[in-house]
Amino acid sequence: TAVIINGKEIAEKKKQEIAEEVKRLKSQGVTPGLAVILVGNNHASRTYVTNKQKTCQELGMNSVLIEMPEEVSENELLSKIEELNQDPQIHGILVQLPLPAHINETKVIESISPDKDVDGFHPINIGRMMTGQNTFLPCTPYGIMVLLEESGISVEGKHVVVVGRSNIVGKPAGQLFLNQHATVTYCHSRTKDLMVHTKQADILVAAVGIPNFITAEHVKEGAIVIDVGINRNEAGKLCGDVAFDEVSKKASFITPVPKGVGPMTITMLMYNTLKSAAESINR
Ligand code: NAD
Repeated sequence: TAVIINGKEIAEKKKQEIAEEVKRLKSQGVTPGLAVILVGNNHASRTYVTNKQKTCQELGMNSVLIEMPEEVSENELLSKIEELNQDPQIHGILVQLPLPAHINETKVIESISPDKDVDGFHPINIGRMMTGQNTFLPCTPYGIMVLLEESGISVEGKHVVVVGRSNIVGKPAGQLFLNQHATVTYCHSRTKDLMVHTKQADILVAAVGIPNFITAEHVKEGAIVIDVGINRNEAGKLCGDVAFDEVSKKASFITPVPKGVGPMTITMLMYNTLKSAAESINR
């Protein structure tokens, strides 16, 4: 049976390291600051934003919450972002998605200074990631890489199959694996014979958003299985994309849900904010 990768524990360790670095920066007169913009009253978004703020405080960073009503105009939002782009106390700007339909998400993301884009969603930063330059890596994929590293798993030469190709998870996850010299296959909703691909994976990443989507049948004996999904099953219980009980019998390593990839996402956001603050000293 598989070793369970403890994302909560690894996240705690990383957060301690970040808190140490924050202390060091503060002694140099710089306190990392994250601005989070929340538009409207989406319940899930509010929970995410509260967690991000709480974690900032835990780690000794400043956090600023900017709340805007559902009806806010795109221009008002853009001018707020521009203000934050210019603010030397703010090192990271995060616009909580999704935005109301009347606001152009792409335009908003592109208005954030690439130097403060701690989500790593700006096309300039995505380009930098693709070409292996210094950048902010998207938090969830980055968290996956740290989980593997901390578990002593090398990626080089492995066949990685990523199921899901969203801009925030699947696509960048594949790219990060490629950057670390893996062979990468992307699967998605129009993939034919999904199982033919997933069964070849040394490392299988599930980022689909469907409970129990990946079953033991999809998985090669001894594979490493990373479950990115955060879903609710019929009973209302939090679960991933992987049928944990059966797959964990076959895999060599597996991430659980909760306490797997989830806690890493916020942790890498904090890391990116710290990194931005540290780099601001030399700008
Ligand atoms: P998404 O809906 O944007 O993308 C889902 C992807 O799954 C798509 O690319 C689609 O092609 C693919 N897909 C759908 N049906 C499929 C099928 N039948 N066969 C193969 N592929 C199929 O979702 P997302 O934003 O990438 O999120 C995926 C999951 O990860 C969700 O459960 C989400 O809640 C979770 N998530 C977790 C974190 C975290 O911090 N752990 C962060 C972001 C998202």
